Amino acid sequence: MYPARAVVDLTAIRDNVRSLATHAPTAQVMAVVKADAYGHGLVSAARAAIAGGATWLGTAQVSEALALRAAGVHDVRVLTWLYAPGAPLREVVEADIDVSVAAGWALEEVAAAARAAGRTARVHLKVDTGLGRNGLTPPQLVELLAPALRAEAEGAVQVVGLWSHLAFADEPEHPAVRAQAEVFADAVRTVESAGIRLEVRHLANSAATLTTPAVHYDLVRPGLAVYGLSPVPQLGGPEAFGLTPAMTLEAELATVKAVPAGHGVSYAHQYVVPQDTVLGVVPLGYSDGIPRHASGDAVRVGGPVQVGGRRLGVAGRVCMDQVVVDLGPGATEQAGDRVVLFGTGADGGPTAQDWALAADTISYEIVTRLGSRVPRVHVGDLGGQESAVDAVGGAGRPSEVGAAQVAG
Ligand SMILES: *Cc1c(COP(=O)(O)O)cnc(C)c1O
Repeated sequence: MYPARAVVDLTAIRDNVRSLATHAPTAQVMAVVKADAYGHGLVSAARAAIAGGATWLGTAQVSEALALRAAGVHDVRVLTWLYAPGAPLREVVEADIDVSVAAGWALEEVAAAARAAGRTARVHLKVDTGLGRNGLTPPQLVELLAPALRAEAEGAVQVVGLWSHLAFADEPEHPAVRAQAEVFADAVRTVESAGIRLEVRHLANSAATLTTPAVHYDLVRPGLAVYGLSPVPQLGGPEAFGLTPAMTLEAELATVKAVPAGHGVSYAHQYVVPQDTVLGVVPLGYSDGIPRHASGDAVRVGGPVQVGGRRLGVAGRVCMDQVVVDLGPGATEQAGDRVVLFGTGADGGPTAQDWALAADTISYEIVTRLGSRVPRVHVGDLGGQESAVDAVGGAGRPSEVGAAQVAG
């Protein structure tokens, strides 16, 4: 029995995808499930997203895409986009996974893999419209068209997609959004006038899906919003966009004890109790993904922890396996009582966004960095043949074995 867990509400994921589809009524939805579905459990989250209407899944790493197919997720298209020379692309092609091409060597390796597999690889050309990260610059894209057309003629590849990624999607009014959209529109024209018939053109992540309909094209690629978190917290929380946070991180107090005024708390006594009080120990620490930057001291309240309806903060340094909370004088909590670090935010409870603020980061990092030893417990009825708790989902990570134990 692990004294903490991330409870993942699959119904929320399903409904968030439904909601995203209504934000982008002219596009299909690719639910991005990279990084173990942003920490939510790859396969369970993928199935919930499909139940909500996602017809595509997106992963960064090839291993994640292969894990989806290996787990029996066959009823959707899957796109993978991040790999280095020598990646197992033959397996990718044989698993019927669409693959991004962002360089000449990648086209050559995908075509070679397709020949070896005796199949046609479905390729999405990635263009760098200004992010300055992965993707062909517009001149490189032009250069790649002739080899791509040759590979198409030979039957090794079919270029089905053109895509790109925005640098300022979370600032919808930023001029870079419009500038990238224009470069993308040019790239679409270039590719199509070369005789390539694109099935899907795609540019929008969560923020653009929610705020910039002009870039929805044929397919939107939300990640964070699938899990119910707002990619634009300065513009509105999840509820403003019809989203519900899917993950609740909860724990049982491991220790509760009274200490006198002046008692130091945790390493280096960064926090000293100002009065006689009661301390509670929460068995989650930085190895579980609790940011050490969210430690508390005399001036700064640490990351939020909800205890018995009260909202408290981490007192003193976040340790590897635990944090301490000052429960206050006369607190009646006992070891074993449930505390919540973040969840839906209903009833004023803390959220992943609150932790992001406390640690000077973004909610993406809070959920994706949740440690692998924290069990994920999947709840929520998807209405299909899904079991309520899909504890063996994902790529067989220890966390999900842990979930099986918690779920009994
Ligand atoms: C991660 C990622 C997404 C999803 O981004 P969110 O901001 O989480 O919606 C979409 N496209 C690409 C290329 C990505 O890397």
